[in-house]
Parts: sequence; structure tokens; C-alpha cells
Amino acid sequence: MKTLRSYVAGRWHEAGTGFRTLVDPCSEEPIARASSAGIDFGHALAHATRQGGPALRGLTFAERGEMLARASAALHERRDELIQLSLENTGTTRRDSKFDIDGATATLAYYATLGRELADRRHLVDGDGVQLGRSPRFWGRHVRVPLQGAAVHINAFNFPLWGLAEKAACAILAGMPVLTKPATSSALVAECAVEILIEASVFPAGSLSLVCGSTGDLLDRLGPQDVVAFTGSVTTAAGLRASPKLISAATRINVEADSLNAAILGPDVATATETWAAFVREVTREIMQKSGQKCTAVRRILVPAHRIDEVEAALADEIDRVVVGNPREESVTMGPLATADQLRDAVDGVRRLREEARLVRGTGDRVDGVGNPAGRGFFFGPTLLRASDADKAGAVHEHEVFGPVATVLAYDGTAEHAARLVARGGGMLVTSLYTDDERFLADYWTAGAATSGRLYVGSEKVAPLLPGSGLVLPAMTHGGPGRAGGGAELGGVRGLDLYLQRVAVSGDRASVERLAMGGSDPASSAPEVR
Ligand code: NAP
Repeated sequence: MKTLRSYVAGRWHEAGTGFRTLVDPCSEEPIARASSAGIDFGHALAHATRQGGPALRGLTFAERGEMLARASAALHERRDELIQLSLENTGTTRRDSKFDIDGATATLAYYATLGRELADRRHLVDGDGVQLGRSPRFWGRHVRVPLQGAAVHINAFNFPLWGLAEKAACAILAGMPVLTKPATSSALVAECAVEILIEASVFPAGSLSLVCGSTGDLLDRLGPQDVVAFTGSVTTAAGLRASPKLISAATRINVEADSLNAAILGPDVATATETWAAFVREVTREIMQKSGQKCTAVRRILVPAHRIDEVEAALADEIDRVVVGNPREESVTMGPLATADQLRDAVDGVRRLREEARLVRGTGDRVDGVGNPAGRGFFFGPTLLRASDADKAGAVHEHEVFGPVATVLAYDGTAEHAARLVARGGGMLVTSLYTDDERFLADYWTAGAATSGRLYVGSEKVAPLLPGSGLVLPAMTHGGPGRAGGGAELGGVRGLDLYLQRVAVSGDRASVERLAMGGSDPASSAPEVR
């Protein structure tokens, strides 16, 4: 069995004790083990901050972007190997594995291009200069400079490569070294990816470290110049936020957590329209893609009350076409859940939902998978439920079942009612709205825009172009209020914010301008961000 290694302080570390076992979710056979026992986290952190930090801060955005381009190319070159590992480790179909691997290389490439655009500067100028008193000589500017600590990235199991890449791209482009920790259950992919990047000597020493296993005492060592970016459950996030050391050092923490995302069918959308087809196609994809183990997956489907039977029948038809099984089998369109724990949570979760919703499709229990021995594997069929009363429902709005599970709910056809129901989720990553009625859209905007980090509008005009509400594009912010964690990642240059300190600098106009514009040549302008 393979023993996963960590890469810290410029060398590979293999633990001798404290292992957790990774299993193939189809066969349930062990495939690797991981532990971070024996890592000197103080030394690892010091190496990152003393070597990686200064090296990155010494480079321009264009140079950092160039490294991200090389990282993207190096990973893309080994794409097939990474896809295969993802399949073995997380049970994803080839198509779903590509979603993770290609999403990672595309995000790195996106930030590489952004680095080129930000050009040969090392910080960002934020807005215009401002005269601060009666004399134009006393002048102020806002400038964003990289923090001088390390960025600790803690990722969830479901996107082992994309999670690593989207966080690392922003931190490294901003000029901060990264210590990345994949979820242990799916760490095989991240270990391989970091090995590829180290072999290719993409980043300067100390810029990228990998911790396979627990974070040990790393978080207790962080200070005010460090950053934690976390993706995972609300419960783990709450524990991190309550950490006395992180509180006393006021270490920045970004959280991406659970989300009860909603898809709303507008009252205007008739069947046999492009908008209807997009709604049915996309909601089905959101239920089954990556076996529903996506933070952006649709969990609640809001439908005008008089259309609910129609919607239920259309979605049930689509779901009946899904083939659940071992992704090594060609006919299979949906793989198993990633771990035994995920399966147990899905079974428990559906049991809770069934107290207020009836099953339309699915059994609420483990199933056998096509092309897999009976009784083996963490398979759970696509599951559609229908809530008896959307207003009275509790768990449907509050409990995220992290699997191929969604519930249809009736609303009265007004944007205000839809918005009230969506808000019961306590803060979402994304809400998708399928409508061609600008009035309905505007009413929803007024009543509910603030409850989700992203509003995705599907209409006739864009129906052929829609990528799916669950797709996180690097140009758009990923994150949402409340239960979704209150964090923000990506969103183009906004994604760098977490790793930059905004400094308000005031003084003699000429010297402030020289500092802000990046050196002795005030004539050449630094990239400006408003
Ligand atoms: P999790 O159990 O909270 O674990 C997430 C990460 O935190 C893992 O790397 C885990 O490491 C680590 N971790 C756990 N306890 C920790 C501690 N005390 N200190 C430091 N690190 C700790 O979540 P998960 O089961 O992997 O992921 C599923 C959840 O993530 C779902 O609820 C989903 O909604 C959410 N999610 C959110 C997003 C988003 O972008 N908003 C994306 C994906 C997933 P180990 O694996 O070693 O325990």
C-alpha cells in the first residue's frame, strides 16, 4: 500500500506512525495511507515564511503569473494519470474527474493571464490618490501589498485538485507562500500534483508545501501575517474560528462551508421552451454530477405550486436515465460517494428529510453499483424528494445532504415568497433562477439578492451558453454569506484580497506617488484596482 508523503521545509517527509487509510470507494479496499506524524511544523512554517515569502514578493505579478502558467502546463501534461488517480481515490467517473483536474489547470491558467495583465509590479494600487487637506502637497493613496506570513489552505475531499489550485493560484499570484492540506480521504491526487510541481521546479523554494494528514500544531503557530483558507463543513469551520490562538493573533480566516443552494423556476416558464429545457437539464446535472458532492449543487428546487407535478415528472424521467456504478464501467454515469462516512451521512440525511418530504426517486439507502460486486462500494442512487409544505419544512432548508439529493418545494409564484424560502437556507453559495420575465427577476433581486454569493440567471437568450450553476468560474467570486461561510475566493483580482494588506499611505504627494506607483519611476503606472 502506498504511503503518502508530505513536502515541507524543502523536502519529502514520510511518517512512521499515526496513519489513516484511504480506500477505493468501489472495492472498499485500502489504496494508501497518510499521516503527518513527525513533521516539525515550526520549521515548515519558518521555511515558507523566510524562504518562500521573500522569493515570491521579489517577483513581479507577471513573473508569478508565468510560474502559474508553468504549473498549469505541468499538471495538464500528466492529466490522464491525475484523472485515473481521482477515479481510484474518489470514485468519480472520467467526466467528473476531468471536472476537477481540468478545472484546476484552467484556474491556474486564468490567474497566469491575470498576472501578465498586472505586469511588472509587486503590489496593487487601490483607487485614485486623494488630496487630504488644504494643500495639494499632503496626499493619500491606498496600496495593497502581500502579507509577510504563510497561507495555510485546508481543503475538502470533493475537489482534491481544483481546491488546491484555486487557492494556491490566488495566494501565489498575490505573493504569499502556501502550505496546502488536502482532505486525508482524497489526498492521493494532491500528493501526485505537488510531486509533479516539485519535479518541474515550478515555484521558488518554500513557496509550496504539502501536508498529508492532520495539521498537527501548525494552526497554533500562526500569527497576524498568516492566513487560513478553509473549505469544509460548518462544524469544522466553527472549531477553527473558535481557536484561541487564531483569535488572539487575529489571523485572517476565509471559510467556504455548507450551502443549501436553490434553483427557482420562474412562473413564466412554459414547457417546450429553451428556458424550461435548461432548467430540467441543469438541475438534473446538479443532482448527479460528482454524485452530488459539490458545495454548489442544487439542494432545493423551488417551483410554482401549480407546476410541481410537471417538474417532478420531468426530473424523475431524467434521473431514471442515470446509471450508478463503478466508473471503470463505460455505461456508468454516476459513481459512488467518496467514503463510508459520506454514505452514512447521506443515509442519515435523507432519513431526516423524509420526516417532511416524500421520496420521488431513490431508496434513501445504499444501493449496489453496476459493474461492481454486490454488497460492495459506497453507492447511493440519485434521490429526489418532494416537501409537503415548503413553509413548514425545517431540515429541507437547514440540513445539507452532501450527496445526489435534492428536494422539490412549491412556492406561490411570487418572487417574494421564493426569496423568503431561499433565505431559510441561512446563506448560500449560489441561487439559480430560470426565467424570461425581467419583472420577476427584478423583484427577486430586490427581495433576495443578498442571501447568496452568486445569482445565476438562466433564460432563453443564454440557454445554449449556460455552463451549469454549479460551475465555479475563476472570474466570478465563489463564497456566500452565513451558513456558506461568509468567505470569498476567486472573482478575478478580488481573489488576491485575502492575501494582501490594504495600506493607506499619506504624506508628501511626490513620495506617496513614487511608493504607490512602485519605485523610482512615478511616470510608469502600477496596476490600478478599484
Ligand atoms: P470536513 O470534515 O470539515 O473537512 C474539511 C477539511 O478540514 C479536511 O481537510 C479535514 O482534514 C480538515 N479538518 C478537519 N478537522 C480539522 C481540524 N480540527 N483542524 C484542521 N483541519 C481540520 O469537511 P469534508 O467532509 O471534507 O467536506 C464536506 C463539506 O465541505 C460539506 O459540508 C461541503 O458543503 C463543504 N464544502 C464546501 C465547499 C465550498 O466551497 N463552500 C466546497 C467543498 C465542500 P482531514 O480530512 O484530515 O480530516
